[in-house]
Amino acid sequence: MNSVSAAHPLSGHGWDQSRAAEFAPLAEAGLTPARIARVDRGRCDVLLADPETGELRTVRADSRPVGSSDPVHGPCTGDWAAVDLAAAPLPTVSALLPRSTAIVRKASGGRSDGQVLAANIDTVLIAVSLALDPDLGRIERFLALAWESGAEPVVVLTKADLVDDADHIRADVEHIAPGVTVLAVSAETGEGIDVLRACAPGSSALIGQSGAGKSTLTNALAGREVMTVQQTRDSDGKGRHTTTTRELIALPGGGLVIDTPGLREVGLYGGEGLGQAFSEIEELAEQCRFDDCGHQSEPGCAVLAALEDGILPYRRMESYRKLQREGAWIASRTDARLRKEQLQKWKTITKSMRGPNSPTRHR
Ligand code: GDP
Ligand code: ZN
Repeated sequence: MNSVSAAHPLSGHGWDQSRAAEFAPLAEAGLTPARIARVDRGRCDVLLADPETGELRTVRADSRPVGSSDPVHGPCTGDWAAVDLAAAPLPTVSALLPRSTAIVRKASGGRSDGQVLAANIDTVLIAVSLALDPDLGRIERFLALAWESGAEPVVVLTKADLVDDADHIRADVEHIAPGVTVLAVSAETGEGIDVLRACAPGSSALIGQSGAGKSTLTNALAGREVMTVQQTRDSDGKGRHTTTTRELIALPGGGLVIDTPGLREVGLYGGEGLGQAFSEIEELAEQCRFDDCGHQSEPGCAVLAALEDGILPYRRMESYRKLQREGAWIASRTDARLRKEQLQKWKTITKSMRGPNSPTRHR
């Protein structure tokens, strides 16, 4: 029973009783639980407890056995994996555990498939630089993406040392982020970093535009230089740096953070999160006379009434409609369906593991 105890070396990385229970058939098959720290073309770095010494170590593994033609189902930073350490020439990732949460955006360009930015996270930290005028529409988009993941969003307004009216901007952002904690922090002065740490226990993922201060924030949370921050700045005030892989970084005092590369495009993939990001509009819609009200010109529409009364700002409604239109064409591929597919795949794997199969037999 020792592998299930709270003192498991990976417990600081999110390993818990329920994961251990899920993993039991794989452990019986001789596989080792591991958390994927970074993925890079058929290979990945995984964190695991050495079965001999019990010590935490990073191992390079072949992740091709769990590769998938649909990138959403392939391995991702934050995934829990079953590793066959005896495989040669490299240890292999034999299976991925079902994800509790996942940040999935629409892949860039005209493609309709998704891209997973981080898996099994508890909190999504949305980094927004105070050095630029806040783009409320973009923050709303990030919030929809974050809610959609199943994790809890927190908006982190960075570079608070560069502005005088951080509190004012924070109040504006709070208005468009119902139910979400909005913090102003400065990695430069340390302001708000402790509060941020307290708001993000467990596994968090940092998302935001390039130059928003994500790497600097990761370093501040880690208390040491774990990410390279490029000091050169463009005329638009954005920094540039070259991180393209997603890294999982353990924090002192527990918890970990996954830094994602700067996101230029954040196409939504799925639509459930939109309702949570715009919860006050969804609540108003419940009071419309017709259940299927389109809030266009229907009589008894509570949303239109709120717009007219000035309770609901037009900008907010337009932003909601825009994101709704964007998500509509991809709506048939909902997150719920993805999870179901994954669960199905998982059942097949565990079933085969219970049989007399060798751990290296995949699927
Ligand atoms: P990323 O692209 O989101 O990872 O952003 P970086 O962490 O690379 O930061 C972009 C730029 O903003 C760099 O020049 C940082 O030095 C600067 N920066 C980040 N955090 C702060 C802060 O709290 N205060 C100030 N003044 N500058 C910051
Ligand atoms: Zn209506």
